Amino acid sequence: MHSELPKFRVAICGGGISGLTLAVTLGQHSQIPIDIYESAPEIGTVGTGLAVWKRTWDIMCQLQLDAEMDRRSLSHPSEGENLAMIFRRSDQSEQGTDIFRLISSYSHIGLHRAQLVDMLKSRLPPTCTIHTSKQLASYSRNTDSSYIMRFTDGSIANSDVLIGADGIRSAVRRSMFQDLIEQGRLPPGLLSPESLHKALEPQWSGITVYRSLIQPQKLREISPDHLLLSSKIVMNFVGKGKHIIAYAIADGTFINFLAFDTDLDGEGKEFVGKWVYDTPKEEVLNLFKGWEPCVQALLESLDSMISRWAVHVGGLLPLCVSDSVALIGDAVHAMTTHVSAGAGQAMEDAYILGRLLSDDLTTRTIVPSALKIYQDVRLSVANDVVAISRDLGMMYELNSPEYDGEDRNDSEVIERWGQAILSKWSFQWIGVPEDEWKTARMRLTELANRSA
Ligand SMILES: Cc1cc2nc3c(=O)[nH]c(=O)nc-3n(C[C@H](O)[C@H](O)[C@H](O)COP(=O)(O)OP(=O)(O)OC[C@H]3O[C@@H](n4cnc5c(N)ncnc54)[C@H](O)[C@@H]3O)c2cc1C
Repeated sequence: MHSELPKFRVAICGGGISGLTLAVTLGQHSQIPIDIYESAPEIGTVGTGLAVWKRTWDIMCQLQLDAEMDRRSLSHPSEGENLAMIFRRSDQSEQGTDIFRLISSYSHIGLHRAQLVDMLKSRLPPTCTIHTSKQLASYSRNTDSSYIMRFTDGSIANSDVLIGADGIRSAVRRSMFQDLIEQGRLPPGLLSPESLHKALEPQWSGITVYRSLIQPQKLREISPDHLLLSSKIVMNFVGKGKHIIAYAIADGTFINFLAFDTDLDGEGKEFVGKWVYDTPKEEVLNLFKGWEPCVQALLESLDSMISRWAVHVGGLLPLCVSDSVALIGDAVHAMTTHVSAGAGQAMEDAYILGRLLSDDLTTRTIVPSALKIYQDVRLSVANDVVAISRDLGMMYELNSPEYDGEDRNDSEVIERWGQAILSKWSFQWIGVPEDEWKTARMRLTELANRSA
């Protein structure tokens, strides 16, 4: 049962996947007034597809997005052993060979990003107001402990609670740490200017990814029996220093294509130039020259221009809340894409935080302590996923101690490498976010009892 009077107002800076998920969760469990401030002229999304695994699916069900999927005739993932990904050695001109099959205990689904954003938008509560073309510049605290937000267009707004869901270049994060510096409350690990810079500024991962959606019809014309035309399995075409991920999304309407090229020396270096721009497909064709026919057919099917992304990651932050301000999603743990978990982790943050804030036990006075519970429950888990994702990138591109790719026929080593990959992936289908919520709820009850 929702209480009649709103206990506080929540401002969400950023209307991406994490911000929308938070608003939907808050709306489902409370009457809290929500304002979303989004810098873009409309709530939308750039980019292509994303894979949704069991933990993310559980949140989607909690938020009744499964019904939205039905309305859009999109199929659901299901329980049971599932061939999730095939690793295929492809950096040779002859036909490639499958070297490892990753079996999950739950199937995944591929969604177009726009579909997920649309479904979330359709579940936004009437208590939520969206303000577009509002780019936050900074915030500061009012004398009554509420926050004043300043936008780049000169306007201001106030809120009791402020959530930074504003992605890897988060303005909320910048302001939060500025505030901590001014108050002399920086954690010891961040006291040197170098460590602070490393934690706060996005770093280049050394990875360039070329992303596109392929029309299955185009691929069919080039290669009628291509293995991606008849299967939903994620294909991982691996080779030394590069790999390509491709899989059907939106029930086979498109093939999501991502080609990765890693500069090992580039990791942590400053990236000069634009992070994202369109480039002629010849650039990616050249990178994968000499790879097997199945890869060449995919490359040929690409449109003439392809999106090129310099993948950046966040520094590992030791904290993500301060008083009544919290960071979620890429604002706190932007990661590489190798375990398809950025959006999933963003949704887990949003779900746990949303449940905590909307709980009847959370009064305005105890919001800062409730946010600390969110931090305790989520931050180290998400930071572990950041590390897993990085390790997997090394493994896919045969740059890990498990397998360096030199001996193409050492089946024992390759099997060990595959099993190590499997064990890193397994968090995606073990447990449910509801377990984390139960832990958080228990902590909240203890807190409320202590404050009573
Ligand atoms: C190539 C690639 C492939 C990926 N594939 C997958 C996948 O398969 N599965 C998966 O789970 N994840 C995947 N991810 C990761 C996923 O896209 C992100 O982790 C996720 O989008 C993070 O959501 P977010 O809402 O936290 O941030 P964002 O999506 O970055 O949203 C932030 C929002 O805040 C707005 N904003 C920014 N600054 C301000 C400001 N100052 N004021 C107001 N608004 C602001 C932005 O316009 C944006 O709308 C992939 C990422 C990439 C780059």
